[in-house]
Amino acid sequence: MPRIGVLALQGDVAEHEAMLARAGAEPASIKRADQLDGLDGLVIPGGESTAIGKLLRRFELLEPLRARIRDHFPVYGTCAGMILLANEVEDAGVDQPTLGGMQIAVQRNAFGRQRESFETDLDVPAVGDEPLHAVFIRAPSITRIGDDVEVLATLPDGRAVAARQGPLLVSAFHPELTDDIRMHRYFVDMVKSRES
Ligand code: GLN
Repeated sequence: MPRIGVLALQGDVAEHEAMLARAGAEPASIKRADQLDGLDGLVIPGGESTAIGKLLRRFELLEPLRARIRDHFPVYGTCAGMILLANEVEDAGVDQPTLGGMQIAVQRNAFGRQRESFETDLDVPAVGDEPLHAVFIRAPSITRIGDDVEVLATLPDGRAVAARQGPLLVSAFHPELTDDIRMHRYFVDMVKSRES
């Protein structure tokens, strides 16, 4: 069974752990760099990307995680986690440390005030034919996509909201807030296929 960490600095840590367990992984809360040893993958929950970035630096996790990502460590970033994995943050604050690794540009809070939070059914063919109920909370969107990135889901207006590049997976929505484990199972399968 793959051992998958959940970065436990901010966000829905317990919910992600429960989803990972249901999807066939052994979850672990991660707060320190030494806890990364022995992990097969990591989930970065939503929250506030500026705050998580600063906490990553304070907890001395930025460089160890960047090094692992360079080394093809599987990471699933949701919402703020997606912002942290993007190579470019369009409206980054002056002091917003990120991890990078994925050839995407993202725009924070891309849906404006009226649609700060919304829910919609999304087609995500990679996880199955049934539409996936997706919860967006002050969500980012993907504004540019590199050659190696596969878009997994788009909104009706054409904006990409889930994507994969090799061992990196991102979604602008919060899969841990529904009962549907398919995004987590997709990530667990990505991790497993790397192990074998
Ligand atoms: N708006 C947040 C940010 O910019 C992300 C929101 C979320 O993770 N739910 O970091």
